[in-house]
Formats: sequence, C-alpha cells, structure tokens
Amino acid sequence: MKEKLKKLTEYYGLYNYWKEEVANLEKKNEEFDVMDLDDTLFSVQERLQSDEIFQKNRGEKWNLLIANKLGIKKVIGKYYKGKVFPKDLINSVNQHKSLILTAGLREYQEEKVKHMWIDHFNMVVTETWEDKIIALIRYVIFDLKYIPARITVYEDRPQYFIEYRDLIEDILWTKLEIMYVEMDWNTWYKKIQIIEWDSFDF
Ligand SMILES: [Mg+2]
Repeated sequence: MKEKLKKLTEYYGLYNYWKEEVANLEKKNEEFDVMDLDDTLFSVQERLQSDEIFQKNRGEKWNLLIANKLGIKKVIGKYYKGKVFPKDLINSVNQHKSLILTAGLREYQEEKVKHMWIDHFNMVVTETWEDKIIALIRYVIFDLKYIPARITVYEDRPQYFIEYRDLIEDILWTKLEIMYVEMDWNTWYKKIQIIEWDSFDF
C-alpha cells in the first residue's frame, strides 16, 4: 500500500504516521458522507453549454478564465444566484456527519456554496481531483478525529476513489462505499448508484 501511496505523494512515509494516528482514534459505529460539488450537487452543464467561451477553454483553463477574465462574482451571478438545483442528495445527508470535497479554485467554490445556501456544510477544496484522496484521509484523521464504520463518497467522476479505494480502506481501517452520481442538468438525478466493481469505463 505504501507503494500505491507513492503515486499520490512523495511523502509516502506518511503512511506509517497515518496508521499510527488511526490506531489511536476512536472507532464509531457511524456513517460519514463525502460529496463532490460540481455535477454532483449542482450541474455545471448550463454554464458549459450556453457560453461558447467555456466550450473553447476546456478543463483547467476554466478556472483561469473565470478568475482572470470573466470575474468570479459575474459568473456566480449569472449561473448560481437564485438557481434551483435538486436537493435529493444534500437533504439525504447529516450536515454534521458529512463533507463537501471538491477540486477547483477555493474562492470560486466558496462563492458557489454560498449562493446554493449550503455554506453551513464543511468543505475542503483541493487543487486536483487526485488530491481528494489524501485530503479525505487527512480530514478524517485530523478534523473528524474518529473513524466512521463506513464512508460513502458521492461523485460524478469516481475514478480516483475506485483506484484508491483499497488504500483509503487500508489507512483508515474503514469501509469505503462509492456512489456514482449522474445529474440531468439541475432538474433531477438520473442516477445515484453504488459502484461495486473496481474498474470504471463509462
Ligand atoms: Mg464533479
């Protein structure tokens, strides 16, 4: 498992440290829910489809474009302010036993949750999707400070959680359940489905 951690960080020696910390944490017979933000709680399809500028600047360039050219407040005002989104998922979790774990630009993600009226939830913003794995491990050990019997992750892009499920389960000594989420824009959820298999090829 230490070898697997090497793929995520050069500080792979943290594996031993984390295991020791986990050994000292209380195990609680509780569930903990982890939700992605974009296209899991709120669909970004409207933004992507309606503006040509977003279609031309794919992937990581979006954040540069929003921060440097368009302006965060402007984009939020247009696509998030007063917008309705399906509440099935957010209403199904316990606010005190859940986390929003999202990759992106901190300022932008924070504005989003404010305008979605869900900024009372704890949130961790990572730089990349891959960073979510270590961020989750650290959150449980250092912020949650107990080991839940099960962690359920809700994601529209669950690839990394599938790939590193065994690492997370090994370090945190818990069970990781992965739910694949598919939204139909911000109308409803097409799918919230458990992933039992260990490969992902949609
Ligand atoms: Mg997403």
